[in-house]
Amino acid sequence: MDEFDIIARLFAPLAQAEPGAFGLGDDAAVLTPTAGMDLVLTKDAIVEGIHFFADDPPEAIAAKLLRVNLSDLAAKGARPRAYMLAAAFPAQADEAWVTRFATGIAADQKRFGGTLIGGDTVSTPGPGFFSLTAIGELPTGTMIRRKGARAGDLVCVSGTIGDAALYVAHRLAGAAVADVALLEDRYRLPQPRLALGQALKGKAHACCDISDGLIADLGHLCEQSALGAVIEWARVPLSAAAQASLDAGPALLETILAGGDDYELVFALAPDADLAALAAITPVTVIGRFEAGQGVRVIDAGGHDVALRRTGWRHGVGAS
Ligand code: ADP
Ligand code: MG
Repeated sequence: MDEFDIIARLFAPLAQAEPGAFGLGDDAAVLTPTAGMDLVLTKDAIVEGIHFFADDPPEAIAAKLLRVNLSDLAAKGARPRAYMLAAAFPAQADEAWVTRFATGIAADQKRFGGTLIGGDTVSTPGPGFFSLTAIGELPTGTMIRRKGARAGDLVCVSGTIGDAALYVAHRLAGAAVADVALLEDRYRLPQPRLALGQALKGKAHACCDISDGLIADLGHLCEQSALGAVIEWARVPLSAAAQASLDAGPALLETILAGGDDYELVFALAPDADLAALAAITPVTVIGRFEAGQGVRVIDAGGHDVALRRTGWRHGVGAS
């Protein structure tokens, strides 16, 4: 199956809902924003060996690619409208593999919304590389920024923290963890918090998604908002699997707080905000407060600072 077969047979059927995609039959697509709406654009790339393992199911790799981008739209309060896909398939990706990859995209397009409107398809002698540009919409001027948290605001997170990082620590460093299957599922198939993100518009003072780790991404909110934050370790929401893993190996605390790949939302709410209305959509937990100053502090149940050596995942350039 060559590049043109892949586009015509596997990707063109996903482009039908957006007339400006022209069935992927033209050089480019045309997208007219809905009246009164802004387009919100984001792009993420995933690389074999870093963001996914070569033996991950291709459906899950495709789904994760779409979901990490939708997670950015969720954090900004946007609704998915369209997306563009660049796929560099590795040599070992045969027809069956590429077909399964497209199946994964198709299922998630149905689940979360948005239409494939274009992209590029190439092959690579190196590891697989996939990049997606997601395009969302929201009422003009309403995008939730990283900037805008106020001193005294609550630090809130959705879902549970650390599951994906525990899976990676298990897989790469042999860390002993409980319920590997659940942790693996959280790593492979993050849940973009789209409904919560849209409900946060006009409520959250600042928001971002947690891709690089809770401490690092909360740090981004702090930096952009020119504030610091303090979080109480005991309030950080953990899955039963993460709690059991931590009980057996207290050193995993750092993995949970600083590891990446959660794709939950971290956001700032006024102290009198209606948390129950938000929690009816997705579990939301208050874990601390924004305060004057800079940087993120973690305190234990006794109010003492918890020292962390590692604060988040950074991709090097020219390094590894
Ligand atoms: P070009 O000649 O510019 O390289 P292509 O032949 O690569 O164009 O692409 C033809 C059409 O197919 C374009 O509309 C392009 O956006 C679309 N397309 C190519 N690859 C993909 C893909 N992986 N996903 C979605 N659309 C794609
Ligand atoms: Mg062209």
